Amino acid sequence: MSETLVIRSRRMALPSGVEEKAACVKDGRIEFLADYNARLDADRTIDLGDLPLLPGLVDSHVHVNEPGRTEWEGFASATRAALAGGVTTIVDMPLNSLPVTTSVDALRTKVAAAAGKCVVDVAFWGGAVPGNVPELGALLDAGVVGFKCFLIDSGIPEFPALGKDELRLAMKLLAGAGAPMIVHAEDPAEVSLPTGPSYDAFVASRPTVAERRAIETVLSAAAATGARAHIVHLAAGDCAALISAAKAAGVGLTAETCPHYLFFAAEEVPPGHTEFKCCPPIRYAVNREALWRALGDGAIDGVVSDHSPCTAELKGLPDGDFRTAWGGISSLQLGLSVIWSVARRRGFTLADVARWMSFFPASLAGLPNKGAIAAGNDADFVAFDPDASFIVRATELHHKNQITPYEGRTLTGRVKRTWLGGVEVTPGDPPRGRLLARGGGLLAV
Ligand SMILES: [Zn+2]
Repeated sequence: MSETLVIRSRRMALPSGVEEKAACVKDGRIEFLADYNARLDADRTIDLGDLPLLPGLVDSHVHVNEPGRTEWEGFASATRAALAGGVTTIVDMPLNSLPVTTSVDALRTKVAAAAGKCVVDVAFWGGAVPGNVPELGALLDAGVVGFKCFLIDSGIPEFPALGKDELRLAMKLLAGAGAPMIVHAEDPAEVSLPTGPSYDAFVASRPTVAERRAIETVLSAAAATGARAHIVHLAAGDCAALISAAKAAGVGLTAETCPHYLFFAAEEVPPGHTEFKCCPPIRYAVNREALWRALGDGAIDGVVSDHSPCTAELKGLPDGDFRTAWGGISSLQLGLSVIWSVARRRGFTLADVARWMSFFPASLAGLPNKGAIAAGNDADFVAFDPDASFIVRATELHHKNQITPYEGRTLTGRVKRTWLGGVEVTPGDPPRGRLLARGGGLLAV
């Protein structure tokens, strides 16, 4: 007989809203939910009182970069940072590891690199690149949750962009399998070289129309093939209406945005601070407000980190050049507090945050036992103090490279305790994270 655990909270973030509840846990799963005051027979009871309990976050957009670019990040450091930030499942991107995850052999290499190092659960995206469409079916069978592709230069030669015809070909194949194609949507025809070293010149070089044209390409491929498509890191708020219209027309299209687009605005990026550089870029405040409206009305479905670290040297820090610095923002450990800091001021609840940062990413990645506090799901939880505030210090982050645009910012909301599969865990604990296949089963190592 395995031990039973009851966790009570007067503020449990459920799909139906924030409620007083008790979660009964057995064998790593939520067996059932009961009233907060229900008399329950359990080996152990934890009463959180007014401390909110959220489902463990699922971050479906993390660049772990191992094997191959382990000076940027790695499974041990990334998963520790995730856990410290309330994220109990990550889905690793097929780049910028070496090899990139575009073949079954490469997936095996990556799984071997991850095995035994992870303190949270980990699943894997495959990559769709020119020439590997015949391999996508085998990659799905091997356990990837879907595929990532670029419509523009990815920044690394081993992960080239798909052309429009190849995109359709790949999506036709995925339509039958029910797996999503997730797309970096910027159209290279609308992107130019920055005219100077300033942040404004960088933003101007990657305008919202580049996102719009690429989204049009993706949605016409989704409409033609019936495949599910997903726009990663949407930065252009003025594309929300296009996405809403596609959804209304029945096209299988969803979109995510990232904490940095919802927190920062271009107006506040200081000269030379390339820790703010990512593609597409953080745009102006008026655009940020459009992104918030899109989250509120459901045009944007989820919020995930796009944790994409690199070394200070590649950022050109301390005095970076926005033309040449590597793009990517690290925020795996901070996303929940970043989003809560600004969401609460806009009247959103912890149930909204759980939907954006746990429920939606779990459904995108085809992990049916994740993403919600509900009977039958994995007992992954985060106890989160919504009123505690703290000042971000990069040196206190578990990220391998302690570079963050949030340095010195005061954030509201702190992770207090975390549970993975019903076991309370901390970042310093021995790795007990599992490697997951699409559908939520264990990936064969
Ligand atoms: Zn990314």
